[in-house]
Amino acid sequence: MRLPPFKGSFTQQEPIPEAAIAAATNVMRTGRLHRYNTVDGEVPETVALEREYARWQGAPYCLAVASGGQAMQIALRAAGVTDSDKVLTNAFTLAPVPGAIAGVGAEPVLVEITEDLVIDLQDFREKAQASGAKFLVLSNMRGHLCDMDALSALADELGIVVIEDCAHTMGAAWRGQKSGNFGLAGCFSTQTYKHINSGEGGFITSSDPVFMARATILSGSYMLFDRHGAGPDPDIYADIKLDTPNLSARMDNLRAAILRPQLVGLDRAIARWNELYAAVESALHGYPSIRLPVRPEPEFYVGSSIQFLMPDIDEAMARAFMRSTAERGVELKWFGDREPVAFTSAHTSWRFVPPHSLPHTDRILSGLFDMRLPLTFSVADCMLIAAHIVDAATELMADA
Ligand SMILES: *Cc1c(COP(=O)(O)O)cnc(C)c1O
Repeated sequence: MRLPPFKGSFTQQEPIPEAAIAAATNVMRTGRLHRYNTVDGEVPETVALEREYARWQGAPYCLAVASGGQAMQIALRAAGVTDSDKVLTNAFTLAPVPGAIAGVGAEPVLVEITEDLVIDLQDFREKAQASGAKFLVLSNMRGHLCDMDALSALADELGIVVIEDCAHTMGAAWRGQKSGNFGLAGCFSTQTYKHINSGEGGFITSSDPVFMARATILSGSYMLFDRHGAGPDPDIYADIKLDTPNLSARMDNLRAAILRPQLVGLDRAIARWNELYAAVESALHGYPSIRLPVRPEPEFYVGSSIQFLMPDIDEAMARAFMRSTAERGVELKWFGDREPVAFTSAHTSWRFVPPHSLPHTDRILSGLFDMRLPLTFSVADCMLIAAHIVDAATELMADA
């Protein structure tokens, strides 16, 4: 049977909700876009957003910033990372993660991943001991959570401070505890391709008041640190306000206005993502040459993208599979490419990081495919997409 090609766009987001457009228009009418530009008694959008995100996240403190990458860089600095430190991170991640580590002058130490696309805890232990690193940026890449109980216990045992990169796990949880609430800090992105969309933007959440005070000054609060929605007690800033540099990475009221109504709708959006994910997953499940990462029972994930492995294919087959799916209108990303393409790159093309030998990760990435599931897709779209993937895989294996 010839399937009709898929015509949808894998990068088309939903429109910004009308309530958000109205709120943004209101901010523009006032001209008060800067977060500290307020009139008496006014609660600026950034302050309201910080309060609302802290509540939604279940974190005592929340700071809105200019991007997810800046959230990580500020978090690393506020955690005390300096240019004499090494910082561990899982090797399967997006370039801004090693970029944030390099940005504070530290040296990234890349840790192997497992076939379920999460950090390999055995390699984490070995690399931590061999490098002496005292920090881990745990990148919950593509929404996959490792065994957070085991990771937390191991980090405690090794004396390692954990900062979570939650760019893909806003709304995810492990045993009911939200991703981002496990280590010293959670870093989130509100960039267009993530779970809420302000073009660019991010959050840092934490329960540590000293860390959060440093992060607030670093984000560019000047001496207006008491004008935040979910920050620590102003008394804590006595020395911190003088000791900490200003890196100017604030969020503005326009972005905050766009985000607040989206936060209200986020749980509903997550349920819809998970319907799309389930449709693709059930169609691919059990197909012999495709392996889906196992999602552990304690994990609650947000299925805003899906990954699958074709463990038995070589480079030529992977390229043929990419061509065949593209002809069908199915836009996959392949993490095994030697050349970085668009947003996708592997550790071998991060030349600002010392070269690493990561045979397990390289083997896994060589057969790893990834696909966005934007909310502009319907369940029927996802079923057609999955049928194309199965069809393309069947043809590929028949030719092999
Ligand atoms: C997008 C992303 C980031 C960075 O977010 P920006 O807001 O684009 O800076 C960090 N980590 C991962 C895994 C991402 O996908």
